Amino acid sequence: MTSRDEKKPRQWRRKQCHARIINNTNIRLINFFYPIALHDKVILVKERCHMKIILADAMGICFGVRDAIAATKKIQHPTDITVFGQLVHNPLVTTDLERRGFSTLDESQRSAAAIQTSAVLITAHGISNRQRALLEADGKYLVDTTCPLVRRAHDAALALARDGYFVVVIGKRSHVEVRGLTGDLEPDCHAIIETAAEVRPYSANKIGIIAQTTSVERDAHTIVQKIREENPHADIKFINTICQPTRDRQRALERLLEKINILVVIGGKHSNNTRQLVAHAREKGVPAIHVESPEELREHMFHPQDTVGLTAGTSTLPETIESVKHALEQFHLDSCARTHASVSF
Ligand code: SF4
Repeated sequence: MTSRDEKKPRQWRRKQCHARIINNTNIRLINFFYPIALHDKVILVKERCHMKIILADAMGICFGVRDAIAATKKIQHPTDITVFGQLVHNPLVTTDLERRGFSTLDESQRSAAAIQTSAVLITAHGISNRQRALLEADGKYLVDTTCPLVRRAHDAALALARDGYFVVVIGKRSHVEVRGLTGDLEPDCHAIIETAAEVRPYSANKIGIIAQTTSVERDAHTIVQKIREENPHADIKFINTICQPTRDRQRALERLLEKINILVVIGGKHSNNTRQLVAHAREKGVPAIHVESPEELREHMFHPQDTVGLTAGTSTLPETIESVKHALEQFHLDSCARTHASVSF
């Protein structure tokens, strides 16, 4: 080292590494400070060594799912009951019901003939009045956990049909809720529309529109607009039946996407609203990992400097969110220690 070098002021700088977990207003910050000397100079390395995790401000289980699960816990003889499809689209819930003695029907096999028990539990997604009458005619006792907001959508569809509207249901054709919503409508008097590209001019002069409760709000408005354009002379009435918990989660995701570079979405692989959250993040260019449980996550999926967003669909239990958050918190925890150990002073 030259005397000139020795006269240089020592520019000790600090490396800051931190793990930060943000949940609304709660911030936990762990800092590690240490200087790095290289060739008798100190280099500023401004690097975050731990992932930052930000939770959506609205996510996870909705009141409809919570109440449906609570209703099953009050049932004293589960072995007498068949759940008519998936109680909610969460395989952990289905597994727990079967463990407790409930019989469950696959959603593709829902019929009175397939039921061996004396009682049937109607799921949060609801069924049509026709289906309900068939089960009752078969002598089944019904335990009804239909979400009140799904019931509201049924009432809206029937009211439109009664008032002479051709009913358009925005939603997924194969989804049990949509099958229930359209089950009481005459085949020639309704249409199911999944995307704006499917919209056609209809021969009706009155068109009433409702939406599956877990539809994406902006997509539904796009479809309504297309129906107006394709049917300029029709009297068009849109009743927005998308439920508030779904809207809250979609809006929370919008805010979250502004702050993150990768998203983890927790929820059933068949959960419509969960899949919509994943799809929307990807449309916005944010990579999204869809998991049902923490076991599906691996450390290599993330970089220590990632800011990871966490959200969950309306059928995801709080304990599942907590376990996924805990798993994420463990990733790259020792990055600072490894970096520190590799630097000699
Ligand atoms: S997602 Fe909406 S409609 Fe479905 S159960 Fe939850 S609150 Fe009810």
